[in-house]
Amino acid sequence: MATRKDDCIFCKIANGDIPSNSIYEDDDFKVFLDLSPANKGHALIVPKVHYDNAYEMDDEFAAKVFPLATKVARAVKKALNADGVNILQNNEEVAGQTVFHFHMHVIPRFKDDTVNVSWVQNESNPEEQAKLAEILKAEMK
Ligand code: 5GP
Ligand code: ZN
Repeated sequence: MATRKDDCIFCKIANGDIPSNSIYEDDDFKVFLDLSPANKGHALIVPKVHYDNAYEMDDEFAAKVFPLATKVARAVKKALNADGVNILQNNEEVAGQTVFHFHMHVIPRFKDDTVNVSWVQNESNPEEQAKLAEILKAEMK
């Protein structure tokens, strides 16, 4: 069972010990504006209990995250008149995580904005892909 972690900034914000520009709150989550936003309206969905990352989250809790993300996405798109929205989430330092309390970013996007969510599209090898799919399929069981 997840609980709060003493030295965690998002535990403190989500539970109201540190103020934030909150846009939504329920028993499980606080949603507030990012302090250093990628764009105006950049929001963070943060559980009130501490999970380091997505792998730690139990199914029941994880199932609550995406309905909230779609709600926030619709709200920021409408309020900011955004052309699009990124919903994204980083796990571990190498993947860009800097605050080690699970959170989901909802970032309104505008034509010609400065946000960069991209990667090089590598070529794939059909045999290697088939092997990988088998390995991953086994891991999913
Ligand atoms: P990550 O890189 O871990 O996916 O995202 C962490 C996010 O939290 C960053 O976008 C950063 O700007 C935001 N952030 C870090 N500290 C604070 C804070 O004290 N308050 C708020 N509102 N956002 C924060
Ligand atoms: Zn925490």
